[in-house]
Amino acid sequence: MGAPELSYLRGYPAELVADVPRLLAEGRLGSMLRGRYPQAHAVRSETALYDYVAALKARHLRSAPPLAKVLYDPRLQIVRNALGTHTQVSRVQGNRLKAKREIRIAALFHDAPAAFLRMIVVHELAHLKERDHDRAFYALCVHMEPDYHQLEFDLRLWLTALELEPQPTPPPPPRRPGAA
Ligand SMILES: [Zn+2]
Repeated sequence: MGAPELSYLRGYPAELVADVPRLLAEGRLGSMLRGRYPQAHAVRSETALYDYVAALKARHLRSAPPLAKVLYDPRLQIVRNALGTHTQVSRVQGNRLKAKREIRIAALFHDAPAAFLRMIVVHELAHLKERDHDRAFYALCVHMEPDYHQLEFDLRLWLTALELEPQPTPPPPPRRPGAA
């Protein structure tokens, strides 16, 4: 069997991802990341997500246009190069075309570690000002989250584990004494 293709980790230096195939083969990548990021988040609803994004935006990007909509999208597949989607939906309102800003966060972040939700929200907010994944874009990400690069790398590891590592099966129910 060949090594699995690490599509989320394309573009990273080989030495940085050298251990990944072994960790995957041993089924340890996911648990390693859960150990590193044990903290869950409390952003459970769409309202909570909107408030969470709005608070970060108010702190760092006050001048960016207001957000019309923020949601967890169960249909959103994470594109390997572009992690989330920021869309500008044009709607006709009266006779004027008005661009509405939406941020869609893939539903799998609902159950992601808190740090990964923060990272993806920072990424999507940065797109309000910078369209491409260029220097200015990443500078803005780091301004909002100094640990951005490490978090994006670890998020990609986590996505790799979700995709390629067998998920732990729950332990069988305890046997009742007396049962055969
Ligand atoms: Zn992007």
